[in-house]
Amino acid sequence: MFPEWFEGPLGVSIVGRAIEDGILEVELIDLRPHGLGRHKQLDDAPFGGGPGMVMRIEPLAEVLEPLAETHRVLFTPSGDPMTQSTLDRWSSLPEITFVCGRYEGIDQRVIDHFIDEETSLGDYVLAGGEVAAAAAIEGIARLLPGVVGNPDSTEFESFRDGLLEEPVYTRPAEFRGWKVPEILLSGDHARIEAWRAEQRRRRTEERRPDLLDGLQSET
Ligand code: SAM
Repeated sequence: MFPEWFEGPLGVSIVGRAIEDGILEVELIDLRPHGLGRHKQLDDAPFGGGPGMVMRIEPLAEVLEPLAETHRVLFTPSGDPMTQSTLDRWSSLPEITFVCGRYEGIDQRVIDHFIDEETSLGDYVLAGGEVAAAAAIEGIARLLPGVVGNPDSTEFESFRDGLLEEPVYTRPAEFRGWKVPEILLSGDHARIEAWRAEQRRRRTEERRPDLLDGLQSET
């Protein structure tokens, strides 16, 4: 309902460059022209009563039916959480359609008949799906070949091996007496790698033990 919302997120940094370089193509579809009647109505009161308005099926059917060849994702708090593996999967698809809801949500029949996957950005309620779509587009863009300068930077980072990233440091080696861990200055690459692996594991244990549960159930 608000294609203009995307002007910023699609215009700058990695996503902006990916689009400019022709690596990523984003088409914004305005739902309003598909609305009903003179006022191009998109919503209506919920059957059975209750607060707020619900997005009607007709405009969404008109837009989503011809896009059946694409993978149609609806952003909703009721969906599966969006994780790095979701983005990995999506980044290999030739075409994907993101549906951004507004109001109290979308008529369930849209979901039953025109949506292939329901995805949530997290356990909180936003006003619309645009923030989730922008997050997905940025997460996908940086996985596309040629977008991030050094492909290693998307290979060695949080969630890649199921763990959080280790702490990272740069110059100066000391600031206000706060020193960079000695090992990182040692030049001993094998010991540095062992230290990093240990830090990844420790940080994940402390902050996100749920990720380790996932790793154990995989092995
Ligand atoms: N009544 C809905 C509920 O309780 O789940 C929330 C509707 S929300 C105000 C309006 C729209 O914002 C949703 O249809 C969805 O597209 C989007 N949205 C809100 N929170 C979201 C989240 N955590 N993840 C993905 N999309 C979200």
